[in-house]
Amino acid sequence: MFDSGATLDPSDWDSLRTQSHRMLDDMLDYVSQIRQRPVWQPTPEEVEQFFTSSLPVAPQSLQATHASFMQNVVPYAIGNSHPGFMGWVHGGGSVVGMLAEMLAAGLNSNLGGRDRIPIQVEQQVVRWMQQLFGFPESASGLFVTGSSLANLIGLLVARTSNIGTEIRALGLQQVREQLVAYTSCDAHSCLERAMEIAGMGRNQLRMIAVNERHQMNLLILQETIVADRAAGRTPFCVIGTAGTVNVGAIDDLRGIAEIASRERLWFHVDGACGALGMMSTKIATKLQGIQQADSIALDFHKWGQVQYDAGFVLVRDSQLHQDTFSSPADYLRRETRGMAAGSPLPCDFGPDLSRSFKALKVWFTMQVYGIDRLARMMEQTCELAEYLANCIERSSELELLAPVTLNIVCFRYRCEDADRVNANIVVSIQESGIAAPSSTIVDGQFAIRAAIFNHRTSQLEIDNLLGASLRFGRSISQESQFKA
Ligand SMILES: *Cc1c(COP(=O)(O)O)cnc(C)c1O
Repeated sequence: MFDSGATLDPSDWDSLRTQSHRMLDDMLDYVSQIRQRPVWQPTPEEVEQFFTSSLPVAPQSLQATHASFMQNVVPYAIGNSHPGFMGWVHGGGSVVGMLAEMLAAGLNSNLGGRDRIPIQVEQQVVRWMQQLFGFPESASGLFVTGSSLANLIGLLVARTSNIGTEIRALGLQQVREQLVAYTSCDAHSCLERAMEIAGMGRNQLRMIAVNERHQMNLLILQETIVADRAAGRTPFCVIGTAGTVNVGAIDDLRGIAEIASRERLWFHVDGACGALGMMSTKIATKLQGIQQADSIALDFHKWGQVQYDAGFVLVRDSQLHQDTFSSPADYLRRETRGMAAGSPLPCDFGPDLSRSFKALKVWFTMQVYGIDRLARMMEQTCELAEYLANCIERSSELELLAPVTLNIVCFRYRCEDADRVNANIVVSIQESGIAAPSSTIVDGQFAIRAAIFNHRTSQLEIDNLLGASLRFGRSISQESQFKA
């Protein structure tokens, strides 16, 4: 009566095994030979077309599906694994993380709760993060997709700390206080989005001006808090940034901690870019004050080189964290014995119920490389940024647009009509496949932006970027002179 062929397991495990090994080998080839590829190439029309075929009804062999992946997907990825990739803030990934992902997929654990040992792996990473950031053993931590969500969780716990858990039932409409949060004007846009999603509204996020080093101006912060209180509003949270996305600046976290403590505000740190620098004693000196945060958002998938996605939030007061999210439900009943034992569970600390085993790739990465080697890798990205900045300062044709604190360098080619020419330079370099910088605006000026997060990047790629910036700069600015 029942069709024994209905299972999705293969009927022939041996041929599946052969095909699996081929797939693994192809990915190892891809990573080991990545330097021989262009960083990025535009997708041809026929490849775009390939992905418009309709709902597949009949089966297709794994072999054929893998072949089309190799042909139509692999060559047209964004290129962040490539050492020449310096756009936005992207990690390069590692083979260790890749293999760990495979193992996690094999287990197919749901980390919302129950499976005890996978959850213990996640809890061990939480303890490692407590140690790294000098947090107490009672602090809680949770893997999430990325810092966008980790920052949202930080803000929500901050809100609970200020107005209590009644907000969960009442909703903001019935709360009289107008809650106000503070961050710098260089902070990541996901913080505004977090205020929107939380229903507090982005207008209630004060974007404090920065000093010449792109750090939040603490005098203005203090004045703004005073003004908000005088106007009857309720300041509840201040968000410092450890590594701004634009230029890699680090706020004066100690100074912010002091103000937050004096004003009884929650101190959250957006450490997506830079918090993991705590692994290096050299970089840690720039991050002092982060240990005093009430909550920290960070991304293992950026500087930590762990495969996407691997965001994380650490919260000092685990009770408040749990009170912000946990919900009793009949079908999620906790027991003291059996498979439903163990409380609180990860699903009590965030919006997700079903969760993947993200912790495993982080656990593997930290075990296999060790903190010392990861620290050295991060230090090297900073040294390369310093090298790039020095080359720019020595060149009469290039100009540095912001001081370099960590691993992000913003610069431009000096010429007439510089904004237009430099925008053109960035696109030309990207299309050439030589390197992949991105762009931003620094103090109103268009900047070529190199964010050196990839562990594979070496001096060669920095020299290539410099060479290409000069070459395209000269030709594009000359062209526009002739036209004028
Ligand atoms: C990347 C980044 C974010 C957002 O993190 P995601 O992991 O992309 O969600 C937030 N803040 C800063 C400073 C970032 O660099």
